[in-house]
Amino acid sequence: MPRPITAVIHSQSLQHNLNVARTKMPNSQVYAVVKANAYGHGIERVYQAFKSADGFALLDLAEAKRIRALGWTGPVLLLEGIFSEQDLFDCHELGLSFSIHSEYQLEWLARFPLEAQFDVYLKMNSGMNRLGFRPEQYRQVWQQLSSLPQVQRLTHMMHFSDADGERFGREGIAHQCQLFDAIIHDLPGARSVSNSAAILRHEQLQSDVIRSGIMLYGSSPDYPSHSIQDWDLQPAMSLRSELIAIQQLKAGDSVGYGSKFIAESDMRVGIVACGYADGYQRITATGTPILVDGQRSSLVGRVSMDMLAVDLSHLPNAQVGSEVVLWGTSKQGAVLSIDEVAAGSGTIGYELMCAVTARVNFIQD
Ligand SMILES: *Cc1c(COP(=O)(O)O)cnc(C)c1O
Repeated sequence: MPRPITAVIHSQSLQHNLNVARTKMPNSQVYAVVKANAYGHGIERVYQAFKSADGFALLDLAEAKRIRALGWTGPVLLLEGIFSEQDLFDCHELGLSFSIHSEYQLEWLARFPLEAQFDVYLKMNSGMNRLGFRPEQYRQVWQQLSSLPQVQRLTHMMHFSDADGERFGREGIAHQCQLFDAIIHDLPGARSVSNSAAILRHEQLQSDVIRSGIMLYGSSPDYPSHSIQDWDLQPAMSLRSELIAIQQLKAGDSVGYGSKFIAESDMRVGIVACGYADGYQRITATGTPILVDGQRSSLVGRVSMDMLAVDLSHLPNAQVGSEVVLWGTSKQGAVLSIDEVAAGSGTIGYELMCAVTARVNFIQD
């Protein structure tokens, strides 16, 4: 028997979440962002569920090749563009779209020797200050690209730094939207601006191509302002394990390394086959929620490499073999959002789902 820990990928939930994106922005093309191996879910495992998307967006050529190998013939967008001049040959062969965010990429493109008609996304740095051309350069670069024979279609692209909340005393998208509009208002071409937070919180944006990532996997981009229930999203990954031992503690007994948890009174704890070597973060705080047999309980003591402990004080029926859900859904349908668990270690759902390790057995349902 393998260790009982598994990561279950729920195809129906992936589909449901994709439909939420569509419903929010009915006039947009919905691209499914599958970078980082589909946010840790596995590109091959999400492909069927996302086949009804209008395109896929990701980062590297190896992942683009995997999408093509699955039979996808529609648009594939490289969000950070090309990393070397050679990459253009792959883009040509595989029919990939890509962003251009820097001068050097533009030079590579202008030198591309084969007859090609690329679908290019020109990225504006509208305030995030990671990638893109500054607003004052943007129009000139647009003109340059428009005149290149290698370019068939140009889309205006930018990315929000604060779509998930208020900044500077107002909605976090206002300053970037105003800048973007002021620069491109009279230029032709489609627009692509929204990530998940913008799709959910700013329906009025309605750009031509939306780039939905985290929401498709059932995590709320603006937790704790909104939960997945508020956005009608369903967890797409369930990290499930089992109790492999029970300990009866006396008042004053401790649990785990460093004796970080001391029982205040007699209590039962369960030992779970899940540790930081599976991707459950070691710094997760005592009190972070865990489901046992579908009932809410909580983490006690320090997470070790292969095990962690859960409070069973109020769960007299829990026993060795009882189902434990670290995040996601129980077999009976109880829900523990990854956002709540991430909050227990000061991080976000994105990081937890990307960090489930190779030793965990992935299955699909
Ligand atoms: C990752 C990424 C997205 C998706 O963001 P989510 O918050 O996961 O929806 C969209 N656009 C760009 C450029 C990205 O890098």
